Amino acid sequence: MLTVSEAIQKLIAQAQPLANDRRRAGLQSVPVTEALGRVIAVDIASTIDVPPAANSAMDGYAFCAADAAANNFKLPVSQRIPAGSVAMPLVPGTAARIFTGGEIPLGADTVAMQENCEEADESVSVDTKVASGTNVRPQGQDIQAGEVILKLGTRLRAQELGLLSSVGLAKVDVFKPLKVAIFSTGDELVEPGVPLQSGQIYNSNRATLIGLIESLGMTAVDLGVVPDRREATEHVLKKAAMRGDVIISAGGVSVGDEDYVKTAVEKVGAMAFWKVAIKPGKPLAFGHVAGTPFIGLPGNPASVFVTFMILARPFLLACHCSPVNAPKPLKAVAQFAKAGEKREVYLRGRLTEQGVEISTNQSSGVLSSACWGDVFVVQQSGESIAEGDLVDVLPYAL
Ligand code: AMP
Ligand code: MG
Repeated sequence: MLTVSEAIQKLIAQAQPLANDRRRAGLQSVPVTEALGRVIAVDIASTIDVPPAANSAMDGYAFCAADAAANNFKLPVSQRIPAGSVAMPLVPGTAARIFTGGEIPLGADTVAMQENCEEADESVSVDTKVASGTNVRPQGQDIQAGEVILKLGTRLRAQELGLLSSVGLAKVDVFKPLKVAIFSTGDELVEPGVPLQSGQIYNSNRATLIGLIESLGMTAVDLGVVPDRREATEHVLKKAAMRGDVIISAGGVSVGDEDYVKTAVEKVGAMAFWKVAIKPGKPLAFGHVAGTPFIGLPGNPASVFVTFMILARPFLLACHCSPVNAPKPLKAVAQFAKAGEKREVYLRGRLTEQGVEISTNQSSGVLSSACWGDVFVVQQSGESIAEGDLVDVLPYAL
């Protein structure tokens, strides 16, 4: 059985050919405001300084610090500079009324905040304690012209969309979204929206998988539910290999008589490995069908959440040409005790002011533990945890 880190390494290595294909397959230019979650396909350099000119960080008065000292800190007010206006060069020996974002006039080097100044009869007594350069945001403080602001492979979050806009870009070149063909297996599954008959449960993995995939800026191609039958499983695998860049299934991947996924992959493709020492989620399959990578996740809903986040996510990101940085666990004080296990355990936990607590029911069927929590507590195989121990905590990464 592979350890979790061995499995991740193998998966990332397997992603390389697909990542190379995607680089060749070209890119799309999309409006920045519609690019959330997409992956940048080129290095992006700024053509301008941000801010383009020095401006004031405060509402107040702009002046030359040496002039102010020479004039007993009392200066006539010679112009008014709201944000968006054009500043005239400062008349020597005077101050300018200025507002946050207003451009610093040529000849001024300092802004005193209005709360520390007193204006009367068109003159201002400025703060005597303000040092030269205070409250001035220099030109290029954030970004300098020519600087690479975002590198190929960056997955765009809201703050990157803002950064692209700040250098004047309306569109951005991104990779075409990775298509992930998904299906769920199980004769017991029905879709939400219809009444349950006895023996049935609602299909929750479909929605979880679609959400997880779309939150990575990828496209889920939903192939629905597949009955527990060998031919049906082989058929959906072939269809998925044509429709997706990657295939992800949930359920039917262990060794019960009603688990057909592994044997079907062996029939229409090839398995690379099966079983990872992770809890929840030991039966996890990786292989290929007609050249398309395949990941078979277990069916239990909490296992789907954990194995997707820990194993499938780095694989998909690597396929998408995003750098996959091994997540660095934080340390938190355990507010619980737990005996060691053979596998590496990903407990659904929640940070508190005192440390980290875990959901009381860690069963792989209990999806509410994933919703209750916001972090995984990572328990190494064989590690027993006592209350007060420092434990490894990984925030859910989306
Ligand atoms: P399996 O991996 O197919 O043996 O399924 C393990 C458990 O997860 C069983 O109790 C299934 O009923 C349940 N399960 C499998 N797929 C789903 C699904 N799509 N939604 C909700 N529960 C599921
Ligand atoms: Mg099943």
